Amino acid sequence: MGKMLAGVKVTVLGGDAREIILMQELVRLGAEVRVVGYPPLPELKDCLLFKEAGNAVRQADVLILPVPGADERGIIKGTLTGYILRLNEGWVDEVAPGTLVLVGVARPVLKKVAREKGWKLVETAERDEMAILNSIPTAEGAIMMALQEMPVTLHGSEAFVLGLGRTGLTLAHMLAGMGARVTVVDRGAADRARALALGWRAISFEELPTAIGWAQVVFNTVPAPVLTEEVLAAASPQCLIIDLASAPGGTDFAAAQKLGRRAVLAPGLPGKVAPQTAGEILARLYPRFILESLERL
Ligand code: NAP
Repeated sequence: MGKMLAGVKVTVLGGDAREIILMQELVRLGAEVRVVGYPPLPELKDCLLFKEAGNAVRQADVLILPVPGADERGIIKGTLTGYILRLNEGWVDEVAPGTLVLVGVARPVLKKVAREKGWKLVETAERDEMAILNSIPTAEGAIMMALQEMPVTLHGSEAFVLGLGRTGLTLAHMLAGMGARVTVVDRGAADRARALALGWRAISFEELPTAIGWAQVVFNTVPAPVLTEEVLAAASPQCLIIDLASAPGGTDFAAAQKLGRRAVLAPGLPGKVAPQTAGEILARLYPRFILESLERL
């Protein structure tokens, strides 16, 4: 790809080990990389480390925020140094209107600031290529959690996957590869047909209350309330529920607790279970996102 980012000034504000891999790639591609919220690591020797966010963002062409963005209080974190940056501080005024801002997921507080300041905010986690690649560490992490919690092997187990989207499809494939008996629950007739063609059972959500009784583990990927009190009541007390959908998930956790069902919300698995792979995914995709967006600007 050569020095395709030569002359581009990129500022990375906070993040974790994933962004270190990304920053090395950005440097390799010729970008001038400024960093806030990281210790002076050898891996970052070709980056410019700043203490003040205001100085780092001035004249930047691109800002890269941590994959989870800012939390609901508007706080951006650099986990390697305990760094904290607030969206309601003066540095935001140093970011020029029209600056490209890349973030995995933007909560309303970040969207509001971006709108007010005229930033060009791009949410990367929803892009197909990012979501499909991230589905691999997500599915492996979900399987790891199931193996830790279940007293039996996944091989031979009744495993339900709710939602045959990008994460659900990868997960169902992996479970089937391990010898689990996979049932896919999906609202789309075509997706159910695809699941059947792949050798799995497939049912609709209307059929879930009568079918869930035989599930030993349920993986939810649907970001809507699908594991309701009625459905949970029909599940076996031994059934494990791992909810992968973005917060608040698709499970009525209060009802699960009341009914004595084991249900866990499992956010951010790629960064937790495979930070290097998750960083390599950023390094593979972000340079192109930057080029495409800057060309469009
Ligand atoms: P996706 O490709 O959009 O798949 C979502 C699935 O949910 C699709 O099958 C979709 O069906 C279904 N769905 C959505 N709303 C529904 C509703 N109201 N009723 C029934 N089905 C519904 O998304 P994804 O990339 O697989 O991600 C799934 C979730 O996991 C998202 O919330 C994402 O943020 C989260 N995620 C979590 C992690 C983690 O580490 N835990 C990692 C990656 C992603 P249709 O196709 O019919 O719309």
